[in-house]
Amino acid sequence: MVGAGPGDLGLVTQRARELIRHANVLVYDYLVHPDLVEWARSDCEVVYVGKKAGFHSMPQEEIEALLVKHAKAGKHVVRLKGGDPYVFGRGGEEARALAADGIAFEVVPGITAALAAGAYAGIPLTQRNTSSSLVLVTGHEDPTKHELQVDWPQLGALKNTTLAIYMGMSRLADILAGLQLGGLSADTPVAVVQWASLGRQRSAVGTVSDIVGRVKESGLKAPSVIFIGEVVTHQQTVDWFENLSLFGRRVVVTRTRGGNSVLRNKLEHLGAEVIELPLINVVPSVDREALVDVFSELGMYDWVVFTSANGVRIFFEHFLRAYDDIRALGLLRFACLGDATAKEIERHRVKVECKPKIATADGLAKALIETGSLDSAKVIAITGNLNRDNLVKKLEEARAIVDILPLYRTEKLDLSESAAAQDFRERGADAVLFASSSAADAYADQIDELSLATDATQPLFGSMGPQTSGSMKERGMAVDFESSEPGLAAFTEKLIETLESTAK
Ligand code: SAH
Repeated sequence: MVGAGPGDLGLVTQRARELIRHANVLVYDYLVHPDLVEWARSDCEVVYVGKKAGFHSMPQEEIEALLVKHAKAGKHVVRLKGGDPYVFGRGGEEARALAADGIAFEVVPGITAALAAGAYAGIPLTQRNTSSSLVLVTGHEDPTKHELQVDWPQLGALKNTTLAIYMGMSRLADILAGLQLGGLSADTPVAVVQWASLGRQRSAVGTVSDIVGRVKESGLKAPSVIFIGEVVTHQQTVDWFENLSLFGRRVVVTRTRGGNSVLRNKLEHLGAEVIELPLINVVPSVDREALVDVFSELGMYDWVVFTSANGVRIFFEHFLRAYDDIRALGLLRFACLGDATAKEIERHRVKVECKPKIATADGLAKALIETGSLDSAKVIAITGNLNRDNLVKKLEEARAIVDILPLYRTEKLDLSESAAAQDFRERGADAVLFASSSAADAYADQIDELSLATDATQPLFGSMGPQTSGSMKERGMAVDFESSEPGLAAFTEKLIETLESTAK
């Protein structure tokens, strides 16, 4: 029974991550961030039991039966729940069902919504002189079910208390009326925080008398936490998250599956809501014959050229399998494009002797030619299947003898099943960022799967540099902004600058 936290992936516990990675079966619902699911092994059976628009969620008894069935089959089952599993998540019922069947389990707590909403909306939940208790309460009561009724007047009579109401949005007016019956004053501060901790977080602040109107105005809905109490008055002074430069913006990044997402992290820490479209998948795909040929004559080569960190990773994997001494590299000189690629090479204490200022295949060819060392030089080119020809052609024109060593392939992924793509189609975004020509190509190839709903936000297209822009234009895409310098920092700056002049 694992808590997935409120949304932000950084708020998931180490233990949760570990268990997700080892699970054979993963059962999750609506409030769990879909990216968590991708931490699971590729052979893990993933079951969604939450509500989808227009559909009901799986009945509770069925969920319990499902957990029991898989556990009895000897599987490692992770039941992933938003926030904390034991706070309004029916986690207790599921745990009892497991216990009744004699199934061993553990419970991993998560950051519950109220705590996240307080932190990310700038509302300290207790305050020494005004708020000495915090009540977590559910606002959802179904009169047709025999559930315990919350005594709202009694809660309204409490002094020096912060109320944090879960699942209360559809009954907000009734709840406030009940609290007022017990004596809660009409000018008590109230805040509503939707999608806490995520880039899509929105909030509204008011008082008991006007919050219903404000919520309607701002269009806030579930999932939201409603805070009532004096602590809400501190909101403006200690808000940090909603003041970040990309807060309120939706940005699409393309990524290679399994690749690390430095850009995503950067954007999220600036407050953006990031949608990662899994457009391409990098798969190791080694040409054995070429590998044996190149490795048996490693000492004969002058340069080895890499265009991506993936290439470096896979190259060293095979190199270290074939040789147990780094000196087998001999006097081989290393050239590459991009900071991430260089970093991956330098991890092996190998110096990069040639890296163009402009991280493009053309830039790399030019930089290599400028070393004046290419005439009759033997070069190993380690690239993916895309954008390889141009580089090789340029080097050969400079009279180098180029051997291609294919180590990986870039494959396009099917977007029809992707939750991220679905979200993008429905809501659009403020910007789509292209960090490479292959990303632009992959996007163009799947353009039909990416066509937006009519009321979705139409994004601006941003390019990492001239080569990417070239590919985008070739594929008929607009380039709304282009980074003037290489590197993710400059690209992010350019994004911020561009969006500053457009309305949220
Ligand atoms: N077990 C969960 C609560 C599940 S009940 C937890 O500990 O957080 C579902 C309710 O939780 C929603 O109706 C909403 O009130 C709240 N909630 C969950 N995630 C939220 C989020 N990111 N922002 C605001 N409220 C959230």
